[in-house]
Amino acid sequence: MSAEVIIKKEREKSLNNHHPWIFSGSIAEIKGDPQAGQTVLVRSGEGSVFGQGAFSPSSQIRVRMWTFGVEEDVDAKFITRRVNTAIRLRRNIIDVKKTNAFRLINGESDGLPGLIVDHYASWLVIQTLSAGADYLLPLILSELRAQFPGYAIYERSESAVRSKEGLPLRKGSLNGKEPPELIEIKENNLRFLIDIKEGHKTGFYLDQRDNRQLLSGFARDKEILNAFSYTAGFAVYALNSGARRVINIDASENALQIGRKNLELNALSGDKVQQIQGDVFEQLRSFQAEKRRFDVIILDPPKFVQAVRDIRKGSRGYKDINRLSFELLKPGGYLFTFSCSGHMKADLFQKIVADAALDARAKAVILYSLSQGADHPVALNFPEGKYLKGFVIQKLN
Ligand code: SAH
Repeated sequence: MSAEVIIKKEREKSLNNHHPWIFSGSIAEIKGDPQAGQTVLVRSGEGSVFGQGAFSPSSQIRVRMWTFGVEEDVDAKFITRRVNTAIRLRRNIIDVKKTNAFRLINGESDGLPGLIVDHYASWLVIQTLSAGADYLLPLILSELRAQFPGYAIYERSESAVRSKEGLPLRKGSLNGKEPPELIEIKENNLRFLIDIKEGHKTGFYLDQRDNRQLLSGFARDKEILNAFSYTAGFAVYALNSGARRVINIDASENALQIGRKNLELNALSGDKVQQIQGDVFEQLRSFQAEKRRFDVIILDPPKFVQAVRDIRKGSRGYKDINRLSFELLKPGGYLFTFSCSGHMKADLFQKIVADAALDARAKAVILYSLSQGADHPVALNFPEGKYLKGFVIQKLN
């Protein structure tokens, strides 16, 4: 008999809403001796069953729910069903003739808490972030091998979240094939090189695909500042759509170098691109001192808010770069501004950007409210899944 986790009466609401996380404080009692990652039956004190989840003894999120109700067992067939559903969802939203890089499995929102799988050409890059996903990894891998014969699978289970789960960091090939230094993918028929071993996330910011595409429509003949450029994703789209000039700024020399290769790979003229290795905050200030002006500015910073306690400090960071950008924009110019911090809620982010515009004496309007692409869906029972927020804003004066 599997171990059981009994939920406190006053904490049942979240489970009734099918939220997949059970915090340690919601648990009244644990029956049996579940090991890390093992599947436990979750029920109320009165005996009614909520479903089954993965036990995680060291995490504040003590259980992550695999199933709700009593119908499903957590076995190989369960993994097959969930993976099939995830594949079907992507089939309708990704045109594989144009794009072969996308998120295949997006954790909680695909009903597989703690599991990320990204599809890059003929590679799958997998990240397990929870004890439960680690525990089921053999089943997950055999399903992926069956669904994607001939693919190579690489593991990047290195996220800091794993330490909260008491899990070691792990990376490496899962079927003997070592990835080359860079692999080539296509996104909307543009070509990109990806470092799946050392690159950020699993190698690429797949979540920005639609927003990069949206930039294309604003790029013709424009002078564009691409701040936090990583491997020049936005720059490749902009130049491909006729931008006059793009300046990429990033702290990472390595990312800028891959960016240069990406521009070459798409036969985009090197003369139209300037790359600056440095700190965006400092660069924006020195552009301001030089009275430089731009038609379009992209701000796609890393997570400034890592935890709730960083919200104030992170907010100051967002406000600074947005204020400086409003100052650097020409009248009529466009700001593509993003926050990928899950703890920064959309309404607060909008307020920060509004304050930044006020301080810069800019009159501005939101043209588009943006988020992550549809291959990063957000389950309705898991609002935390929406982490990327962005706006296209036009400065009027
Ligand atoms: N827009 C990119 C993704 C940006 S990720 C894309 O579409 O692919 C954020 C980037 O910011 C990373 O490449 C990181 O190296 C860089 N970065 C972080 N802090 C920085 C800073 N203070 N100044 C400049 N770059 C920074």
